Amino acid sequence: MDHQTLWNKVLDELENKYDTETFDEVFKNLKPNAIKNGYLELICSSSFIKTRINKYYLNEIDKLINENTDKLTKAKILEENEIKKEIVKLVVKLAKRNLNANYNFNSFVVGQSNRFAYQMALKVADQPGMVANPFYIFGSVGLGKTHLMQAIGNYILDNDVNRKVLYVKASEFIEDYTKKCNGSFKEEDFNEKYRNLDILLIDDIQTLEIGIKSQLEFFKIFDILYQDNKQMVITSDRPAKELKIMERLVTRFEEGLVVDIQAPNLDHRINIISKKLEENGITTIDKDVLNYIASNFTNNIREIEGAVTRLVNYCDACNLEINIDNAKEALAILVSKSNRNRASSNDYYTEIIGVVADFYNISYDDIIGNKRQSNIVIARQIAMYVLKNKYGLAYKKIGSLFNGKDHTTVMSSVAKIEKDYKVNQELKLAVDTIFKKVE
Ligand code: ADP
Ligand code: MG
Repeated sequence: MDHQTLWNKVLDELENKYDTETFDEVFKNLKPNAIKNGYLELICSSSFIKTRINKYYLNEIDKLINENTDKLTKAKILEENEIKKEIVKLVVKLAKRNLNANYNFNSFVVGQSNRFAYQMALKVADQPGMVANPFYIFGSVGLGKTHLMQAIGNYILDNDVNRKVLYVKASEFIEDYTKKCNGSFKEEDFNEKYRNLDILLIDDIQTLEIGIKSQLEFFKIFDILYQDNKQMVITSDRPAKELKIMERLVTRFEEGLVVDIQAPNLDHRINIISKKLEENGITTIDKDVLNYIASNFTNNIREIEGAVTRLVNYCDACNLEINIDNAKEALAILVSKSNRNRASSNDYYTEIIGVVADFYNISYDDIIGNKRQSNIVIARQIAMYVLKNKYGLAYKKIGSLFNGKDHTTVMSSVAKIEKDYKVNQELKLAVDTIFKKVE
């Protein structure tokens, strides 16, 4: 039986049961809305009527409902604006369906490494299309690019649910485009998805490197949206000029505002950990625990999150207090994995060498090679010094990373930098900067 029929029956009986005055005042204007989750929802016009029904008449209504249906249904009285709020909530939820609700500005912890990106993102969200177009965010994995990008989308929709916001990964765009080409995604639907927009958030644009045709298609869309002053936000794992894509796209990206996000420093990591613990309902926390996590998970916020989640679940499951000993126990596996990832793979060391080479603006081949130009030699010696000093690698091992150089060569290089560091200001500055970069 539908809600209207059921209610009509109940209403008839209520009319017989109560005097006209009560009936007109209390029941007559109730509107059945739906039968949902075992409730017949009835909408009334005021909170006064709602209270009155709940207090005096609800049992009677429930009884009549049950006499008229074989299911166990109860009445629920709702005010009109409660329904409206529900509907608004639903509409917002629908508009945000491809955004993660947790990725908002409030949950984004700001520090030196992301402050500028954050501030500009807020401005862009506040005045889409007016501040910077496109807004290009780059940085390594796990540092908050997707979070910040989706925060823009969530913010815009919170202010105006009618804005059309599309969040897509570049890989999804390529898939859609491929489907359009083979006919399984209708052209008009494709255009509806990508052109009928107010805001386009496109994540991990470096994925476009693999497809020249997709780049062309994206260029078209970009231009259309750009002409219409529609906001575009792009993320990437590297600066636009390092993307191996069409030059004109690179140029377009560079014409907007480019911001980068770096790895968080120690204080920032501590703030992030505190915030994540807070989100898990833990507000007072031992400083040692914070320090322990912050110094063992250093390069990636996703890793930090994983550590916090594990710690919380572990202590919860075993009914343990969160203190330094329990934290060490809970995180042992993750810590050794994180260290292994960082410290034992040659990839990691070659990356360090790469950082030094970049710093001196020389090529990787040169830094590990045999050229004797003075800047190349210094870069090479510093790289060796960093590997010894920060990672305690054996001289022999370091030698093997530099085209199999002899361990005595490595030893004297390290000793030289050690000595010069104390007396040469310029060199000290360079070494300190490099240490910060590889932190
Ligand atoms: P990226 O897209 O750069 O790889 P994500 O945006 O996916 O990184 O971030 C990885 C995880 O770390 C997410 O769960 C995100 O919420 C969290 N995160 C990143 N940056 C911050 C931050 N500044 N404050 C709080 N959480 C962050
Ligand atoms: Mg991402």
